[in-house]
Amino acid sequence: MASFFDTSIEFLKGVGPLRASLLQKELKIFTFGDLLQHYPFRYEDRTKLYTVKEVMEEMPYVQLVGKITSLGIEGGGFKKRLVGRFSDGTGTLELVWFQAIPWVLQKIKPGIEYVVFGKPTRYGKTFSIAHPEIAPISVRNEKGGYLQPVYPLSEKLRARHVDNKVISKLQEELLRLAHQHLRETLPDYLLKKFNLIGKQEAVINIHFPVDSGKLAAAQGRLKFEELFYLQLRLLKMKLVRYEKFKGQVFSDTSILTEFYKHHLPFALTDAQKKVIREIYHDMKSGHQMSRLLQGDVGSGKTIVAFICKLLVVGGDAQTALMAPTEILAQQHYHSLKKYADAMGISIGLLTGSTKKAQRKILHEGLQDGTLKILIGTHALLEEEVKFHQLGLAIIDEQHRFGVAQRSKLWQKNSSTYPHVLVMTATPIPRTLAMTLYGDLEVSVIDELPKGRKPIKTTHQYDSHRLQVNAFLKSQIGIGRQVYMVYPLIDESEKLDLKHLMDGYESISRAFPEYAISILHGQMKSEAKDFEMARFVRGETKIMVATTVIEVGVDVPNASVMVIESAERFGLSQLHQLRGRVGRGAEQSYCILLTGFKLSAEARSRMEIMVRTNNGFEIADTDLKLRGPGDLMGTQQSGLLDLLIADLAKDGKILTQAREAAIEILQHDAELKTAQHLPIKNHLSSLRKSVTNWSRIS
Ligand code: ADP
Ligand code: MG
Repeated sequence: MASFFDTSIEFLKGVGPLRASLLQKELKIFTFGDLLQHYPFRYEDRTKLYTVKEVMEEMPYVQLVGKITSLGIEGGGFKKRLVGRFSDGTGTLELVWFQAIPWVLQKIKPGIEYVVFGKPTRYGKTFSIAHPEIAPISVRNEKGGYLQPVYPLSEKLRARHVDNKVISKLQEELLRLAHQHLRETLPDYLLKKFNLIGKQEAVINIHFPVDSGKLAAAQGRLKFEELFYLQLRLLKMKLVRYEKFKGQVFSDTSILTEFYKHHLPFALTDAQKKVIREIYHDMKSGHQMSRLLQGDVGSGKTIVAFICKLLVVGGDAQTALMAPTEILAQQHYHSLKKYADAMGISIGLLTGSTKKAQRKILHEGLQDGTLKILIGTHALLEEEVKFHQLGLAIIDEQHRFGVAQRSKLWQKNSSTYPHVLVMTATPIPRTLAMTLYGDLEVSVIDELPKGRKPIKTTHQYDSHRLQVNAFLKSQIGIGRQVYMVYPLIDESEKLDLKHLMDGYESISRAFPEYAISILHGQMKSEAKDFEMARFVRGETKIMVATTVIEVGVDVPNASVMVIESAERFGLSQLHQLRGRVGRGAEQSYCILLTGFKLSAEARSRMEIMVRTNNGFEIADTDLKLRGPGDLMGTQQSGLLDLLIADLAKDGKILTQAREAAIEILQHDAELKTAQHLPIKNHLSSLRKSVTNWSRIS
């Protein structure tokens, strides 16, 4: 049965075929339901009336009541404009029109009392309002003061005269019809528990708020609904997977005992132990593990990953680790190889640049089961990569893989799915974790290894370069090494590369007595390895590099990180870069270099970096500064395309919604009880509608 809300938008009074195709192209509004969910992004307060005397420059808009005393055309050519002098007894200002002058002249007459609304701009001593909204006072007397919704629009729509007023009118018309079709989607007891208003009332007030209190209630209710259904579906997926997907059982820990006894280079932190226990519990449960492992930079995720791999190898199965870039994969390979060699376990690296002959060897080892640990990039997903028995897939996400890619890896086994562990390089905010990874269990390493000295971070302007160099000299003098990182956002950016080479030359001039390494993405692998090895051995004192050193590199003696053009980096990248120092026993430093002119946002990024070393706090700030879409990259934004909820602000509602969803699935997973009927109905209508959802199921 097609629902009322699936009716094509074309059939709404005032739309028609032409506007329908505009609405579809510009706003993706295809149906009645789409229009109804085209929510205002802000509201202008039309409850308050100002006087001309009160008008100030910084007001975003004002609403005035008064009369036009004179009206006439001024200027000529393209300076031609219609000017009305507007007065309310407290003062006078100008109303100005550059376009549609004949139409305005027809509509507006001097001497009549109008309500005028618009943005004031100062010209000398007087103010003027260009293209004001203007209506006879009788309209306001009818409507009273109100909140004017402002809808997202496009230039194209405006050019075709589909403006905010038109959208408002369409919403009004639609609501008149839709009213009776709006069914409650949440059970009564949830409305009561969380003090939510009903669906009908919420939809009406989101478009035509009675007052600010009702508007807030409408927003709260619709946000809850949106987040509740998102969580319900994620959790249902998790439940289904748990019940249906059998997991291989890895319970023999004798190989771990051997590793702990003879090869573990340090005592594990309590947090590492806790996380390993959680993972072990999953891997012996007989159900497939799907777990997210989060930990701050330097919290020791690598060793945890290795210990999980050991457990699987001990159970005679294989493990894979997939990293988002070649360099990252190489670095994982090198750090894990140390441990693997010590334990006599075979390990291989497979990336896009692996030679054919080497590939063949790897493929054979994988198929006959002799190759136990495989590290690589997307190349792991290729058809030819077949495992004898894949027991565990670890995905190092770096915010870059999509959920769809994740599931490809776990289809690599025919009989039982491998356990899956997703690792992130830096912490991600809790609200994002609950959404993007809402179908996974979560483990957090919330403690750094003992004895780490917090890194001292400062923000310096380029003009202080001489002082910075003097500081570097003193640090190198006492035996330390230095990283100098340049932005190279896109490896093919010629300008950035020049910037880096210039930097290398000026550093070479400033430090003639030291050998200096350079590292960037356009160098050949051998050259990179050579430079890196020189730096690791301490033969070079300064490493000039692009963000290729962002991840994985581990040189404990390098204790100073200088970041050039730091304003060009995002917060999590700055934090990740800073994490390259502070790994030894020495005091470490991070110097953020920027120009003097900075946007307010860039300035706050520098401030938070200076203020804290805590990756979780930094991630939360990043979310507030940039918003969820930018933060996580476009690949994963599907799940973050929310209609009304905002993951940067609505953490509390999200938590409530998730808890409510968990409770329902615990007691009535099939939604069989009468009280859950609205949920069952709504879920099935959601399933029918086209959403990004299909990407993840
Ligand atoms: P990340 O979580 O950023 O991947 P790593 O796994 O690279 O961190 O670990 C950072 C550094 O800390 C490495 O040099 C590693 O050997 C060391 N490390 C890890 N765990 C411990 C521990 N429990 N005690 C001391 N050092 C540790
Ligand atoms: Mg790491």
